[in-house]
Amino acid sequence: MEEIDRGIRAMKALQKLVPEGGMKNLERVREEMDELISPEFEPYFLANAALHLLFVCDRCGRCCLEEKGIAVSIDDCRRIARHLGLSLKRFMKDYTRPHEMKGELVGSARILGKKEGEPCPFFDFGLPGCRIHPVKPQVCIAALYLSKMNLLICEEQKKINDFPICSADAKLRARIADFSLQLYEDTKSKSEIEMLFDSTKPEVKLFNLLLRLKGIEIYFGHERAMLLARKLGLARVPEDSVLSITGFVYVARLQEARR
Ligand code: SF4
Ligand code: SF4
Repeated sequence: MEEIDRGIRAMKALQKLVPEGGMKNLERVREEMDELISPEFEPYFLANAALHLLFVCDRCGRCCLEEKGIAVSIDDCRRIARHLGLSLKRFMKDYTRPHEMKGELVGSARILGKKEGEPCPFFDFGLPGCRIHPVKPQVCIAALYLSKMNLLICEEQKKINDFPICSADAKLRARIADFSLQLYEDTKSKSEIEMLFDSTKPEVKLFNLLLRLKGIEIYFGHERAMLLARKLGLARVPEDSVLSITGFVYVARLQEARR
């Protein structure tokens, strides 16, 4: 099957990212990653990260209209303030407010100044979509598979997330289901895919590590992921497109296994 061949080629190409002399500090970085996401959640975390890479938001605005609170980190605030040509102080004052849960302040966390039932102040019905799309808060970038919940709460789950009311998720599910069905009917492809993801192969270990790093970037932010990437000796966190082709086959295989 063409998808499997592309997945094999993409997985082999990952080797080009490895610095001369191999990855550094592998064990230490793995331990740090385990502290962020426990190993027992790893397959779910990886699958949700892969879905995130494959997802293309239809920008229907439902999330921007219906989410109750949109958490912003200080990095989000700096980035958006710069984009809008405002000082950080002005941005915080005009666009954010303290984050409260059950009437209690959540530390010094802030959320966008959005009232329940009203759209986010950056939602533009005319576009349609987000007025600050290139610099939007991390929670909006990771709004689906890795953290529908507020990033400040950070629950881990043994679940491949799905969002039936999201049209873009439905399209992605349909693509994956279609591929899984073809796999189900084709024993040769099924054995090829099992060989492709043989966990003893070095390229599979590398794919898992890089997808995990990508998931950490999505979930915990670019800075956190870059620190880990540098410790590994990588120049940068891999681009989405470098992992998404094999990621598609990875998720389809997991779905197929759960049939
Ligand atoms: S519901 Fe889906 S398509 Fe609509 S804005 Fe949210 S993520 Fe995007
Ligand atoms: S910041 Fe942008 S993407 Fe996030 S909720 Fe507001 S309009 Fe939507």
